[in-house]
Amino acid sequence: MSELTRHCIACGKELSEEELLLGGYCLNCFMEIKGVAKSTPALELEQCSKCGSWKIHGKWAELPSLSEALRRIVLSDQRRFIDERAELIEVDEVKVSQAAGRGLSEAVVGATALIGGSMIAKAYFKVKYRVRKTTCPTCSRRASRSYSAVVQFRSARGCLLNREKDYISKLLSDPLISQDVVELTEDRSGVDVKFLSVATAHRVAQLIEKTAGAKIVESFKLTKRDYSRGRDVGVTTISVRFPDIDKMDLVNYRGSVSLVRGTRNGFIDLIMLESGEKRSVPLKEYWSGRLKKLSEAVEKKLTVVGRSLNTLYLLNEETGELIEHPINEHLVGLKNGDRVKGYIMGGRTYVIREEVD
Ligand SMILES: [Zn+2]
Ligand SMILES: [Zn+2]
Repeated sequence: MSELTRHCIACGKELSEEELLLGGYCLNCFMEIKGVAKSTPALELEQCSKCGSWKIHGKWAELPSLSEALRRIVLSDQRRFIDERAELIEVDEVKVSQAAGRGLSEAVVGATALIGGSMIAKAYFKVKYRVRKTTCPTCSRRASRSYSAVVQFRSARGCLLNREKDYISKLLSDPLISQDVVELTEDRSGVDVKFLSVATAHRVAQLIEKTAGAKIVESFKLTKRDYSRGRDVGVTTISVRFPDIDKMDLVNYRGSVSLVRGTRNGFIDLIMLESGEKRSVPLKEYWSGRLKKLSEAVEKKLTVVGRSLNTLYLLNEETGELIEHPINEHLVGLKNGDRVKGYIMGGRTYVIREEVD
């Protein structure tokens, strides 16, 4: 053997000047016997248990598979896996999921490598890894905004009026309240608002109870017991039901037919139609059933055509019927030609002025 000739120590092949001798081996023998892989400690992969994203070099990415996560790590961090004589050009395949003991798994990586700066070879090597399930920042942020209370805004009439919706929006726009709102959904039956804290939900519900006379019903659904803090964790649901009472509604209050002049701060302003007396009653009278909305009344337009000391004479212009009605507090001062409204209920006529202040 001449000093100038070079032979592979494994297969004895004589190598030309262009061919590299790699630690005494030809390329084939080198790749087969020694390989380019370093023995490396197991890879720790992090996957979000909620959305399935993978953490690659400190950054979270949505990837189609574990193989793709391994492929990216091996390619971008190849010095960790491959010795200095080789450079990976591409990772062609990653076969995962062979158990390798000690809670580790093993993947076989097939890559195209540049060896010794001049020769291309296919390299196969094994990578041990372990997948750790964690929560990515996006999911933990979302989880931290999990609500603890839902307020369901409803109305006794079955749907919310626009003024009720406007009132809810106005309340929620208060910065101290809005910062606690996680989600607002609206459907035909009403508005649902999810709150971070039960305290804020209570505050909103109590405010509407006080100002609009809403009825509050609260329930609690246990989701888990937090032993570390020794308390129950769950969702509080508060139903806030607006009364079905509006200006100009006719009601029966403790047996007297009355007209609603308006509602304010938890009170209903009424005119008792028989006596003409004005009074305010708490909205809780509505919820207890002592104040009932009347819907069976027939409304008629009447014109004042005459009066005596205690009696008004009213003409129903549609039918020509003449109605006598006692003059009460509410009807004092009416003149001939004034128009009033009559409600006929149970054979009796109740009269109110057309415009009620
Ligand atoms: Zn050889
Ligand atoms: Zn996630």
